[in-house]
Amino acid sequence: MTAHTIDGNALSKQLRTEVAGRAQALKAKGITPGLAVVLVGDNPASQVYVRNKVKACEDSGLHSVLEKYEASLSEADLLARVEALNNDPAIHGILVQLPLPAHIDAQKVIEAISPSKDVDGFHIASAGALMTGMPGFWPCTPYGCMKMLESIGYDLRGKHAVVIGRSNIVGKPMALMLLQKNATVTICHSATPDLKAMTLQADVIVAAVGKRNVLTADMVKPGAVVLDVGMNRNDEGKLCGDVDFDGVKQVAGYITPVPGGVGPMTITMLLVNTLEAAERASK
Ligand code: NAP
Repeated sequence: MTAHTIDGNALSKQLRTEVAGRAQALKAKGITPGLAVVLVGDNPASQVYVRNKVKACEDSGLHSVLEKYEASLSEADLLARVEALNNDPAIHGILVQLPLPAHIDAQKVIEAISPSKDVDGFHIASAGALMTGMPGFWPCTPYGCMKMLESIGYDLRGKHAVVIGRSNIVGKPMALMLLQKNATVTICHSATPDLKAMTLQADVIVAAVGKRNVLTADMVKPGAVVLDVGMNRNDEGKLCGDVDFDGVKQVAGYITPVPGGVGPMTITMLLVNTLEAAERASK
């Protein structure tokens, strides 16, 4: 068997066209969805991420503001900026790019963002909403994975999903989203003694670890759906995921590539959340 590839670029394009259409409809009512991206310091990877996010907004007709600050910015000044953005009616979503410099308490900053503008979905209120099934913003990466499953018409009811990784931004919210769609969910992590024994039972595997070849063909049940969240570099310095793509592709039913899989979906879901925030604010 050779797995079908779930193309994150193609799905993103489709979803971004929908976002652009909905943004136009809001503009006709005098509201332009707006995202503020706050970057503190000069982390090169963060600079690329924020540039991509701002560009994606522009391409979809969303207003975006990029606020850049020196790494020496104090926590109090950053909190004051967040508060100003909370009160800015032109801004519907606020994203503070992580990581923040060590002298700033990132959790404190995230908690300062109004939950109604928390388009990253990292606020404790957003996490609580996801856990209890209440309306809120879902973290973009696992939300993108759910959209990928939706795009292939995959019914999670009664399926066994194994999530590898338990971070607050990917693994845990991923597990809750899968649970909400009636999957039976297993969460694996660095203390899981026999990962292969778990993944071999899975109908759906989400790898969110940050290590190459965490998932190889011998660990996958034939026909399983494999979503690769990982972002790593191979020996040639090229971007790769957590999954041994070439090997697993021979066994799985569906697989997401890296690059061109979950990565573009993450930014797309940020646009979706920002649009959603603007639509909610307009009601
Ligand atoms: P993280 O906070 O470092 O979490 C990694 C998780 O993997 C932890 O829960 C860890 O377990 C677990 N783990 C480590 N080694 C393991 C092993 N050998 N077997 C099983 N589990 C293991 O990372 P993250 O923020 O969730 O991100 C994970 C990956 O996704 C990274 O490569 C990151 O760059 C990528 N990512 C991609 C996107 C995207 O848009 N594509 C977005 C976000 C993240 P413990 O909890 O026990 O330490």
